[in-house]
Amino acid sequence: MLVLRRGRPASHAVGILRRHLVDRGPFQHRRGEAWLYPSGLLLANETGWDSDDLAAFIEAGIEGEGMEPRRYVRVIHYSGGGVYYAGLGRYDGRAARLSVPSPVQVRSLDVKKSAQLLSHEFAHNRGLRHKDMMDWWDLDVSWADPWVSGERRLRTAEEAVR
Ligand SMILES: [Zn+2]
Repeated sequence: MLVLRRGRPASHAVGILRRHLVDRGPFQHRRGEAWLYPSGLLLANETGWDSDDLAAFIEAGIEGEGMEPRRYVRVIHYSGGGVYYAGLGRYDGRAARLSVPSPVQVRSLDVKKSAQLLSHEFAHNRGLRHKDMMDWWDLDVSWADPWVSGERRLRTAEEAVR
């Protein structure tokens, strides 16, 4: 089967992401793939969710938040156990991390929560601190509407090649 991807492999991504993200304990890079997209998005995907679908979602967020397209985003499974979402964004940086449940744990991702966390981490990238921000769960993420409504989906990697 021929699988056409939007991104091209970016093996150098892991090194770049290491420099931009603080990695500790269970968050250390273990596996996964890294893709460089025409938009400039460098996506390191360590999850079972499809990279192109994640990239389209993240690119919508980058555009929706008015961010510079060239950005490093790493998506990993939340490894603390349980169904949990978390994020990390560097101050004055271009790197953000999103931790999401595995497709083994959930049938579909909570796209609104994921979008709000991404927006929150992008705000950190713009240098904002928590005292300058509203709570992430109150953030307006209308850019994610197509996913929230179900018009667009974040498929698993397995679904995407079917
Ligand atoms: Zn924060």
